[in-house]
Amino acid sequence: MAEIIDGKAFATSLRAKIAAEVASLSFKPGLAVVLVGSDPASKVYVANKAKQTVEVGMNSFEHKLPAETTQEELLALVRKLNADPAVHGILVQLPLPKHLNADEVIAAISPAKDVDGLTVTNAGLLAAGQDGLVPCTPLGCLLLLQDFCPDMTGLNAVVVGRSNLVGKPIAQLLLQQNCTVTMAHSKTRDLPALCRTADILVAAVGRPEMIKGDWVKPGAIVIDVGINRVPAAEGKTKLVGDVEFETAEKIAGKITPVPGGVGPMTIACLLRNTLTAAKRIETPPTP
Ligand code: NDP
Repeated sequence: MAEIIDGKAFATSLRAKIAAEVASLSFKPGLAVVLVGSDPASKVYVANKAKQTVEVGMNSFEHKLPAETTQEELLALVRKLNADPAVHGILVQLPLPKHLNADEVIAAISPAKDVDGLTVTNAGLLAAGQDGLVPCTPLGCLLLLQDFCPDMTGLNAVVVGRSNLVGKPIAQLLLQQNCTVTMAHSKTRDLPALCRTADILVAAVGRPEMIKGDWVKPGAIVIDVGINRVPAAEGKTKLVGDVEFETAEKIAGKITPVPGGVGPMTIACLLRNTLTAAKRIETPPTP
C-alpha cells in the first residue's frame, strides 16, 4: 500500500512558516484578488484566499466586480493595482465571464506582482530556468515532491496534461530537478504504457479517475492534481482526482489523495509567492 502524501498538513506548516516570516518584516505584504461575476466556485476560492491571506498577517484587498464589467474597466483596475505600493501580488480569478479577454488581462499584470505566474514574462523565466514567479499549483506539487524526494536526478517523470496553468510549468520544474520529463496529452499514443515508465507520475487532466492502478509503475510517486466533482450516493456529490485512487494506492509507493493532497498547497503557494514578490519589490537587488 502506498504512503499517503498529506498535502493538508504540509500546507498548514508552510503557512505557519510564511506567517513567521511576515511577522519579521518591516512592512506588510498585500495581495489583491479580483473576482468578476458571481461564479459560485470562484466565490468560495476567493473567500478562502482572503481568509488565509489575513491569517498569515498580510493585507487582503478584495475587488468584486459585476459580471457586466467591461474589458476597459477591468484593465483599468489592474493598472491601478500595478501602481499601488500597498499591493505586492495581483490575482485575477479565472475563468472570467465569456465577453472578457483573459489573455489581455493577464498580460496587463505587472510581472513583478503576477503571483499566479501566468504572464508570458514569468512563463519565459521559468522556461529559461531563471527566477520569476512560478504558478501556485505546480509550485505546490514541487514542494510536496521535494519534501520526501530531495534528489530527483535521473528519475523518469511523466506529466499528463499540457496546460499553461498546470502541466507545462510542472514539466519545467521537474526538468530543473534533473528528471527525464515526458509530457503527455490527449493525442499521446498508448498512454497507459507511457505512464508505466514513470517514477514520478503527475496527473493534470481534468478527467475523473482516468488513470488506473495498472497504469502505475510499482513503487512510483503519484501526484494527482485533478479536482473533479462527481455524483455520489444519495444524490450527493464528491471530489475525485484524475487518478483512480483505490486501485493506484495498491501499486504506487507514494500518492496524493483528493481531497487533501495537492489542493491545499495551491493557496499556501499563492501566499508564498506574495511574500516572495513583496520582498523583491521592497528590497530590489543592489546594482
Ligand atoms: P486543462 O483542461 O486546461 O488541460 C487538461 C489537459 O489534459 C490538456 O493538456 C489535455 O490535452 C489533457 N487531456 C485531456 N484529456 C486527455 C486524455 N484523454 N488523455 C490525455 N490527456 C488528456 O486543465 P488544467 O490543466 O487547468 O487542470 C487539470 C486538472 O487539474 C483539472 O482537474 C483541474 O480541476 C485541476 N486543477 C487543480 C488545481 C488545484 O488547486 N489542485 C488547480 C488547477 C487545476 P490537450 O492539450 O491535447 O487537449
